[in-house]
Amino acid sequence: MTLMKAVTFRDFGGPEMLQLTEVARPEPGPSDVLIRIHAAGICYHDVLSRAGKIPRDKPGQILGHEIAGEIAAVGSNVSPDRIGERVVIYQRLFCGQCPYCLAGRQDLCRNSRVLGENGGGGYAEFTCVPAQNAIQMPDGLDMTTAALAVCPIGTSVRAALGVAKIGPGDKVLVTGSGGGLGLHQIQVAKSVNAHVIAVTSSDEKVDVIKQAGADEVIISPDLKFSREVWRLTAKQGVDVVLENVVTNTFGESLRSTAQNAKVVVLGNIGTRPVEVDPGLLIVRRIRIAGSGNATYADVRRSLHLLATGAVKPFIGRVLPFPDVGQGHALMEQKAVVGRVVLSGW
Ligand SMILES: [Zn+2]
Ligand SMILES: [Zn+2]
Repeated sequence: MTLMKAVTFRDFGGPEMLQLTEVARPEPGPSDVLIRIHAAGICYHDVLSRAGKIPRDKPGQILGHEIAGEIAAVGSNVSPDRIGERVVIYQRLFCGQCPYCLAGRQDLCRNSRVLGENGGGGYAEFTCVPAQNAIQMPDGLDMTTAALAVCPIGTSVRAALGVAKIGPGDKVLVTGSGGGLGLHQIQVAKSVNAHVIAVTSSDEKVDVIKQAGADEVIISPDLKFSREVWRLTAKQGVDVVLENVVTNTFGESLRSTAQNAKVVVLGNIGTRPVEVDPGLLIVRRIRIAGSGNATYADVRRSLHLLATGAVKPFIGRVLPFPDVGQGHALMEQKAVVGRVVLSGW
């Protein structure tokens, strides 16, 4: 048995539960590839898993699903030409055979699970995944940047371009715009020449929101921002809202819309129901849609946006893998703007 370094958590609890250990290196099955992990992003999902807030999680597993690396070995059904390929890992282990997968909507596959939920995650030297999950990255893209292609960028591409279908000249409102999703959604929307109005509740993150490319920033401590949106759009409203907050913002988001607008829901900050005015939906023909995850095609598009510099991910800190606990603590204390990425042992 070959061993590898990994970080696991010994029990549900605080960041101190994460510990460096050695575990058996996984062996690729016939249709798998073994990946030497170069960089792994820390997702808030991992923080919730470690704290015991995600059903079905078990202590001892290797968390992390935002992975970039290099194919080190392949199973017998996979071409050995792939050894050495630089890849990111599509985070859902999808079936590839259901109507959703066949239509390219791997994000809807019901026979899928997220990497890291049952082990095999990114806080390790190696992982094994089905070869179809290893997506080649463009030359010249660094591993630390590429690690974010799947989760924060891919999720933004799905919502902005896949669900909302934002195009040139569309007016787009982004709520929670200073957060990890918001900052990347602004860049994705700008990549297709949309006009972006960003909402934030304090002046703390205005600079970084402008850096992301927002055309206008509304600072709205009381979250009554629709009047200002109305003024900025000459009483036309916005064509798309990317709603990362929802709690205490949804009503104002609906009031900010143009005729036939799309309101895409990604956030669920307060995890409780919100009120909707059906009259407003009818009069303005507003379409409300949920969005989450990314398709395989979205990830390829994210890699392209990163490689061309159209999207520059906000990376607040790069830490060596054994310091993942410090990364979790920084995220829990909101002591870092942008993502924390692990690289090096
Ligand atoms: Zn993630
Ligand atoms: Zn499927």
